[in-house]
Amino acid sequence: MRRTLDGMQTSVTPTHCPYCALQCGMNLTSVPDRDGGGTGVEVTERTDFPVNRGALCGKGRTAPALLSSRVRLTTPLVRTDGVLRPAGWDEALDRIAEGLSRTRTEHGPDACGVFGGGGLTNEKAYALGKFARVVLGTSQIDYNGRFCMSSAAAGGIKAFGLDRGLPFPLEDVPKAGCVILVGSNLAETMPPALRYLTELRENGGKLIVVDPRRTRTAEQADLHLAPRPGTDLALALGLLHLVVAEGRTDEAYIRERTSGWEEARAAAMAHWPEYVERITGVSVPQLRETVRMFCEPEATMVLTARGPEQQSKGTDTVGAWINLCLATGRPGRPFSGYGCLTGQGNGQGGREHGQKADQLPGYRKLDDPAARRHVAEVWGVDPDTLPGPGRSAYELLDALGTDIRALLLMASNPVVSAPRAAHVEERLRSLDFLAVADVVLSETAELADVVLPVTQWAEETGTTTSLEGRVLLRRQALTPPEGIRSDLHVLRELADRLGVEKGFPTDPEEVFEELRRASAGGPADYSGITYRRLAEEDGVFWPCPSDGSAGPAGSAGEGGEGAVVHPGTPRLFLDRFATADGRARFVAVHHRPLAEEPDAEYPVLLTTGRVVSQYQSGAQTRRVDELNAAAPGPFVELHPRLAERLGAVEGEPLAVVSRRGRAVAPARITTAIRPDTVFMPFHWPGEGRANTLTNPALDPTSRMPEFKACAVRVERVG
Ligand code: SF4
Repeated sequence: MRRTLDGMQTSVTPTHCPYCALQCGMNLTSVPDRDGGGTGVEVTERTDFPVNRGALCGKGRTAPALLSSRVRLTTPLVRTDGVLRPAGWDEALDRIAEGLSRTRTEHGPDACGVFGGGGLTNEKAYALGKFARVVLGTSQIDYNGRFCMSSAAAGGIKAFGLDRGLPFPLEDVPKAGCVILVGSNLAETMPPALRYLTELRENGGKLIVVDPRRTRTAEQADLHLAPRPGTDLALALGLLHLVVAEGRTDEAYIRERTSGWEEARAAAMAHWPEYVERITGVSVPQLRETVRMFCEPEATMVLTARGPEQQSKGTDTVGAWINLCLATGRPGRPFSGYGCLTGQGNGQGGREHGQKADQLPGYRKLDDPAARRHVAEVWGVDPDTLPGPGRSAYELLDALGTDIRALLLMASNPVVSAPRAAHVEERLRSLDFLAVADVVLSETAELADVVLPVTQWAEETGTTTSLEGRVLLRRQALTPPEGIRSDLHVLRELADRLGVEKGFPTDPEEVFEELRRASAGGPADYSGITYRRLAEEDGVFWPCPSDGSAGPAGSAGEGGEGAVVHPGTPRLFLDRFATADGRARFVAVHHRPLAEEPDAEYPVLLTTGRVVSQYQSGAQTRRVDELNAAAPGPFVELHPRLAERLGAVEGEPLAVVSRRGRAVAPARITTAIRPDTVFMPFHWPGEGRANTLTNPALDPTSRMPEFKACAVRVERVG
């Protein structure tokens, strides 16, 4: 408790932002609810959390606005005669249980789908995965995190045997001599993280940014490479070619710590710099300069984000950047290596604990008999009753209304965020039954038969796992408004109604205790992490086994093997990689074109991304006045040369048309983009919905859609 100047008593709760994967630390301080419609808390600075040291972006600073009952759901809604009307909890839960039960009886368990979100806490993600497999018995579960970083996850597993977004803490970034940042606009997606790049440059390190647009992040770079969208696989291969040709490989590292080099080397040698220049538009002198800047310092890093990952060849593209790091001897060395900047708040934890179609808690594989036995024992069920792997997110959405007849959806808004969104919206409308649990009436919730209003970050306790692999405790600061319940409560009530009376506690700590046991011995081992530790420490990095042993990730925590309390593992791969032989694996990859290249009918490339004042589908941030005022709607960014050819005028509407649909938004003319490419942010529904246009072509390994590039034509409207 503390006392304000006017004598009021206030309480301060240290917690973390509800939005992106940086999971900035913040304090929530209670304030008098002066206008009667406020939330009773404001965000105040929290300088003791080392990742953001008090800095927040506008989204974090304004996050309490969403707690207001003026913008959120406060009562369950049930569709009657085509209209959503307020209802009691029992009626709403009965309707959902009946919808799921009827579907299961008539069409079998796999006719029930479950769709989760990267914003759910670890406890909720774990409970949702368990609910799907134990209560519904369905294999059809996936989540929107599939759209976020699954190509980097697949690339990391292939090369290192493990997927943790960053294998080192962010504090290592400024100590590198050079960082290549590929397809990330940190200045808009997570502004407080930009200081790591600023410090890098202040320390004399170099920053190279790879992005088709000269973004606010690219403006800070020592070198900006602007390849044609979808060609960064070729770019990485061209760089590796030069590394070999110039004799800059680390032969001792390759010999001692890797396998598969000869095949990867041969693939790179087929990508001559002049050939790569023709594919990418990045000149040979720029390629040579990049290699010089990257290879000369002792410690260097490659960090990727959605740019290289959201492609139908995303896994191979990530693999090509990892190959560059391995050939130069970087991963597992101080202030060096490859990392992925995960996007969603709990994108990392959400993919570790069973929300993904092919996974069980602890990052175990659903098709591994030993993993099934372990988790089934924790769950108290026969392993043979657990379903096998299901469909990936887009494939699941595409199957709605066909063999999937009912869907339970939590914390996701695919009507705005899925590729080929008009088609996904049509599939959602064709379901026999749709139930949505969310904080607000999102565009997807508007289509539901039942909508449940649930608690959010400041109203509940739970853990998330940041982009560093740091497990964090979000603490409850407020009592939720009357009529709102937690997702854990929803799952418990539904399990009860569907005949499973045990195994779904509503206390988050109780769920976490079970998660610890389920994850023990798995790749993402949380068994040594407790709420008590999280309350006392600045988070704990997994793997963190309960017995102090090294775990399967290849590195004992820095406290060393045999420590009674494992200290967590901030840095992975120092001694060995998490593969069977302890070596990292090169993967031979080759350039290939986009799933949809421009042609005479659709001659321009569309790429999509974010703006600083909106988050993901905008379901939350579009309801915050200050953010809306800063970023009120979509736009089409295009180069003056393309604008001249089209006769486009700044601020006037342009239609962007792809094989999947048409979107309209005002023109924003800038030399910051390539003349062959247009850009649209994807946060808005309706006429300006960028995902009406995007291509759902999937990466064969990660099943990630090709959000980042598709062929379009651009027309003046009227
Ligand atoms: Fe929140 Fe991300 Fe902004 Fe930090 S950078 S305040 S975590 S949205």
